[in-house]
Amino acid sequence: MDKKYLYLFSEGNGSMREILGGKGANLAEMMNLGMPVPYGFTVTTEACNKYYDDGEKIADEVVAEIFAYLEKLESLAGKKFGDPHNPLLVSVRSGARASMPGMMDTILNLGMNDDVVKGVAELTNNPRFAWDSYRRFIQMFADVVMGLPKSRFEEIIDEMKARKHVTMDTELDAEDMKEMTLRFKAFYKESLKEDFPSDAKDQLIRAVEAVFRSWNNPRAEFYRRMNDIPSSWGTAVNVQMMVFGNMGNDCGTGVAFTRNPSTGEKKLYGEFLMNAQGEDVVAGIRTPQHIDQLKELSPQAYAQFVDICGKLEAHYKDMQDMEFTIEKGKLYMLQTRNGKRTAAAALKIACDMVDEGTLSKEEALMKVEPKQLDALLHPQFDAADLKAATPIAKGLPASPGAACGKVVFTAEQAQQEAALGHKVILVRLETSPEDIEGMHVSEGILTVRGGMTSHAAVVARGMGACCVAGCGDLNMNEEEGYFEVNGVRYTADDFISIDGSTGNVYAGAIKTVPASISGDFERFMKWADETRKLKVRTNADTPKDALQALSFGAEGIGLVRTEHMFFEGDRIKAMREMIVSKTTEQRKRALAKLLPMQRSDFEGIYEAMQGFPVTIRYLDPPLHEFLPTSSYDIANLAADMHIDLDDLKAVIASLHEFNPMMGHRGCRLAISYPEIAEMQTTAVIEAAINVAKKHPEWHLTPEIMIPLVGDVNELRFVKNIVVKVADELIAKAGIDMKYLVGTMIEIPRAALLADEIAEEAEFFSFGTNDLTQMTFGFSRDDAGSFLNDYYDKKIYEQDPFAKFDQHGVGKLVANAAKLGRATREDIHLGVCGEHGGDPASIEFFHKVGLDYVSCSPFRVPIARLAAAQAAIKNK
Ligand code: PEP
Ligand code: MG
Repeated sequence: MDKKYLYLFSEGNGSMREILGGKGANLAEMMNLGMPVPYGFTVTTEACNKYYDDGEKIADEVVAEIFAYLEKLESLAGKKFGDPHNPLLVSVRSGARASMPGMMDTILNLGMNDDVVKGVAELTNNPRFAWDSYRRFIQMFADVVMGLPKSRFEEIIDEMKARKHVTMDTELDAEDMKEMTLRFKAFYKESLKEDFPSDAKDQLIRAVEAVFRSWNNPRAEFYRRMNDIPSSWGTAVNVQMMVFGNMGNDCGTGVAFTRNPSTGEKKLYGEFLMNAQGEDVVAGIRTPQHIDQLKELSPQAYAQFVDICGKLEAHYKDMQDMEFTIEKGKLYMLQTRNGKRTAAAALKIACDMVDEGTLSKEEALMKVEPKQLDALLHPQFDAADLKAATPIAKGLPASPGAACGKVVFTAEQAQQEAALGHKVILVRLETSPEDIEGMHVSEGILTVRGGMTSHAAVVARGMGACCVAGCGDLNMNEEEGYFEVNGVRYTADDFISIDGSTGNVYAGAIKTVPASISGDFERFMKWADETRKLKVRTNADTPKDALQALSFGAEGIGLVRTEHMFFEGDRIKAMREMIVSKTTEQRKRALAKLLPMQRSDFEGIYEAMQGFPVTIRYLDPPLHEFLPTSSYDIANLAADMHIDLDDLKAVIASLHEFNPMMGHRGCRLAISYPEIAEMQTTAVIEAAINVAKKHPEWHLTPEIMIPLVGDVNELRFVKNIVVKVADELIAKAGIDMKYLVGTMIEIPRAALLADEIAEEAEFFSFGTNDLTQMTFGFSRDDAGSFLNDYYDKKIYEQDPFAKFDQHGVGKLVANAAKLGRATREDIHLGVCGEHGGDPASIEFFHKVGLDYVSCSPFRVPIARLAAAQAAIKNK
């Protein structure tokens, strides 16, 4: 049998997301549940993938199947495509496996042409509706299929409103709509040198192709990269009989959530507009009414809707985000999906659903996206400062958080300012999907128009960015780049603060305070801790970072990068002296200056970690990173060291390396200059002894980590130094102290020979940053400059430095773990590269049986949850 590329909604079900996409599968499921869903069919994701495999061409067999299904739809609907006397009109909407709100395209009212519009006018006795539907179709088709700018159409509408002295679309009459339709068509023809297509089947195929194409539009690609969605998934296309919310005042359309997506409160939450079509609500062009008001305007439809909401939530065991339309008092469901929500709402809903008996704790743990927790870990407004501040305006609290920054008026400005390191608040009349990259780099988003379900609100919530929407108090002039409130003008030079939890907008910057884990968050994280197998440590170089990580639940430090302490104040001087030393004696003198600093740093870290394990890594980076570069600094160093300026310059020149990342760094430094390892061992062990004397109950066991080992002999050489110095110090102190010596596995050769290395190493920590760099042969500092080409050409979809390459580098890690354990059964295995905080990577580390991951303090809660999810998924 030929491959099946199409399914009627009645042929599908909720478990078929992979081929029907989320929207198609859920429409089928709702239909199976007996809910009022307009008839339709889904063109599968496989048809989309075929379209790309065939060189962006829709295959004849798919076209034939679409026409066959169209006939089935016609007979179900009792209407005919393109028939003016009984026309079928359809919507064409994208629907990928994972929901990607607003990223791809939708076309409504397809099937309209000059004859059909007249038929619709007669049949409905509502010419205004007929022409309104037609002009909307032209607008959407022109934009989505032909790529004409939306703005020209908006201008024509604005010109019409101005001429008629009205402000709302609903105040335009049938003749106005007709005139606009004709002008739209004229603009279409003038721009594209062809007539607007009148054949309904032609319209349909071109629309399906456009939806397939939209899978690869830049904003969809960006969204996919942000959300780890592979391009190989493709999108499905849903073709559905139109029902009309714009047919009169007993019609309407809306979107609703079964719970509040911002706070998680268990209360139906949504918005609708009477006499409107879907995009009017989400585009934020008219400010919609609250769902409660529907009770008065359309009581029957409201009651049925409330009933359906309850059923859907119970069925999916999750908060639902639904779209509906009311046509002449009758309710239709157009979509349901698990709703996007803020992190705070996600936690509240998860905890509430466990309390309500809907979810088990494990099910609840799977409902929260680990990366989302990040939004809860960042500063909030200082309560006192906030109280003292007076809001200048108030909008809708669309996505919580505290944000302050410089005002910017376009997504491009946001990107430019952010690239300069400035914090910005993106202020727009309304946002559109094209703004996504600018929104991503902004601290917060403030819009003048639009409701809680507007594009800005939905996208901001998805990103965890703070957003205040629909702030009509702002008198905005986007072109000239300012807004006014109460007669005061704010331009791109001003700072503002916005509070996404209250909707308040303030002039100036308000002080912020760090976040803490409490309430639902704390309860939820406890469940995660009970479930996970992986331990979670942190990468921290200072007591401050260590304390931060501890408050976020870290169970130790997996990596102290000792060199980071050498950049500050006077230390850099001693460090530079050490580096430019010509003799061992000189170098030892400089190291002696560094010893007390390093010892006290380690004491601080041991104290902060209160007995949790701490892994200290020895000096790693190329030495030239510490050298002065400006002639002023070089002259100062020469004077400080009482050496000749030219001599110093010669030393600096001699330290030049062509490829420093592969140069004199890591354990190679200790091999050339054993006194560095001696000093660092002295600092580690003396610090541990000092702290152990105060806190014997902590049983401190220093973990000493040797970086960049590629051969067991390298490790053996450095370990001998460590053991000699450490044993002497411990014996002298008369204390019973154990310590461990281990290594990083970050050179492919080490991973291949891990069985030999484990003879000396008591633990391995996978340095996946260097391991990725050296396995790919991509410089970690330079890859950013060409990776975009790799994404464009579909060679790689993800930055391997951010998302662990399980396929390639993963083989090395899995193999090294196995080899390490074969030599030393109880060898402790962890990872301390950046990937230790990335959820998908964490799942891999769980699967290959590592003992812990170590990540930056702010990613510790994310890693705790990701580790729990990995344990649940791989039971
Ligand atoms: C690594 O290479 O993964 C690592 C943690 O070390 P660094 O990033 O300091 O090179
Ligand atoms: Mg490294």
